[in-house]
Amino acid sequence: MSQTQQASTVDVAIIGGGLVGASLACALGDLIEAEREQAGDRKLGSERQAPLRVAIIEPQPLPKADETSAYQPSFDARASAIAYGSRRHFERLSVWSAMAMEASPIRHIHVNERGRLGATRLHAEELGLEALGYVIPNAWMGRALHARLDSLPIDWHCPARVESLEAESGGYRLALDTGEIIHAGLTVLADGGRAGFKERLGIESDHHAYEQTALIANVEVSQAHGGWAFERFASDGPMALLPLSERRMELVWTHEHGAVDETLALSDSEFLERLQQAFGDRAGRFRRVGQRHTYPLSLVTARETIRPHLAILGNAAHALHPVAGQGFNLALRGVMDLASAIEKARANGRTAGDPQTLASFEARRSADTHQIVRFSDGLIRLFGIDHAALGHARAAGLIGLNALGPLRRTLARRAMGIER
Ligand SMILES: Cc1cc2nc3c(=O)[nH]c(=O)nc-3n(C[C@H](O)[C@H](O)[C@H](O)COP(=O)(O)OP(=O)(O)OC[C@H]3O[C@@H](n4cnc5c(N)ncnc54)[C@H](O)[C@@H]3O)c2cc1C
Repeated sequence: MSQTQQASTVDVAIIGGGLVGASLACALGDLIEAEREQAGDRKLGSERQAPLRVAIIEPQPLPKADETSAYQPSFDARASAIAYGSRRHFERLSVWSAMAMEASPIRHIHVNERGRLGATRLHAEELGLEALGYVIPNAWMGRALHARLDSLPIDWHCPARVESLEAESGGYRLALDTGEIIHAGLTVLADGGRAGFKERLGIESDHHAYEQTALIANVEVSQAHGGWAFERFASDGPMALLPLSERRMELVWTHEHGAVDETLALSDSEFLERLQQAFGDRAGRFRRVGQRHTYPLSLVTARETIRPHLAILGNAAHALHPVAGQGFNLALRGVMDLASAIEKARANGRTAGDPQTLASFEARRSADTHQIVRFSDGLIRLFGIDHAALGHARAAGLIGLNALGPLRRTLARRAMGIER
């Protein structure tokens, strides 16, 4: 690797070009273009600030733009549930039309608890929407975001890794493994908590290990899913089935730590049989299973998400249990709020990393984050308690939720990210 010692100065440096970092770069792209246009219109000698400059650093090499058209949906691709509210954000980022090409709509949701009568059903049409949400392969979301980024005036450092991050006057100094140095007025940690920068900066996090592991796989069912998603709670952990194309569904099956190895070791036919027993026939017969992946589950929340010249987004700020499908949706709202705080600050002559800019971002974020963390964590704890009386109460709650239209709709709107 050539070790140049180039240095650059930017207003915003984003560490990590995963789903969250790439979304933020897209969100800032429009602002850069607008500011460049205004700068072009202004007379020479104007004292106004130079157009926003943004850098993003990502170690994983990106697929080439022309590979987007060659994308082949794979039976094994991991996918995420994207709330309806996130679709609206993707529309604002000009990436929804690309995302929609591989998005499977969730038109109905069925939630119940194994062995109990209660169930609740949510329908998109009750809310006057085309879908409650969508399931999109993660790799496709990444490609759609990166294709948009390719068209924006952003400093791409890829493949490149940030090796060190040090506070300096007016911001942070980033040293890359390519030898480049970046001085940034605002640094956004979107490294998924993988690079250890939070710890190196002395930012503490609260950890709660769920003692559970999520097993993820794509399965094929015997009947068309009709846009139904299923969530089933059980004392040994929740499971979800999300609609993909035709008869394909994404399975998220939570296991207690010790139990997952045994399920992983099963042959495909044994696995399908075990799944059928655990899930029942509501989605039809399970016919085929793809590669199985496992993820140990924990709740990690950073105690600080802003400091002067620093903001933390996505998994680096909050890693949630995936059962409620909220992690990325919550992060995307954070992306939109940070971009909007930066836009307002700059319109008022303040910088992106200014403490006031970040305080206004944090003020918008904290209630939403707190609610979603409580909501996802509360679901796991409530359904994880194996107690008969509580089981009946939960079942009554689910039945009650089904009967109480307005309350259920409010809950659905919150889960869909269209109500805060
Ligand atoms: C099993 C499972 C299922 C899930 N399902 C859903 C769902 O259905 N819906 C939903 O909303 N959420 C879901 N989530 C949550 C969602 O996946 C995360 O919220 C999301 O992936 C977080 O993205 P991120 O960009 O913050 O982190 P990451 O995806 O981890 O990206 C971090 C990026 O930083 C880069 N990086 C690391 N170190 C450095 C460095 N030193 N310098 C520069 N870059 C660096 C990495 O290469 C990577 O690209 C699920 C999570 C799990 C575990």
